[in-house]
Amino acid sequence: MQLLNWLGYGTDPELPLHLVYNPVGAFLPPPQVELETDYKRELKKHFGIVFNNLYTITNLPIGRFASYLRHNNKLEEYMELLIRAFNPATIEGLMCRNTISVGWRGEVYDCDFNQQLRMQWFRNGESERLFLWDIDPGSLEGREIMTGNHCFGCTAGAGSSCGGAIV
Ligand code: SF4
Repeated sequence: MQLLNWLGYGTDPELPLHLVYNPVGAFLPPPQVELETDYKRELKKHFGIVFNNLYTITNLPIGRFASYLRHNNKLEEYMELLIRAFNPATIEGLMCRNTISVGWRGEVYDCDFNQQLRMQWFRNGESERLFLWDIDPGSLEGREIMTGNHCFGCTAGAGSSCGGAIV
């Protein structure tokens, strides 16, 4: 990060430098604004580092994190935490409502998490998997999003998206 700062990242308005914070265990991230203030203060004080924004992203119970939780008998507990923290105010800002995720072969998903879970768009009762070139952009408005238990990770607390907290 010091090298990035030296190159102008974080100080030149043309070269923004943003950080992403992921909790290192089975808990929700702290409030984004407070955490950004703390990181700015401490990184500047101890290392002379500056950056623009910090985004908090909740760990979703999929992939390696789900394996870690399962291995430590914490999957159920974490799911309960996410469900208890469900915040309806986050729904409007969920990234799957205004972005799509495209795999390297052109397959289309509602988000990167769904891509990890191989929840590819389909039609005709799953018999026809959809690729980017099959999609008519005009038909996307109001399309039903493919959801699952992992979505509780995006709707917990202040919410979580590629742009950090939602509310
Ligand atoms: S995990 Fe679910 S709620 Fe989160 S962005 Fe993907 S589809 Fe939307």
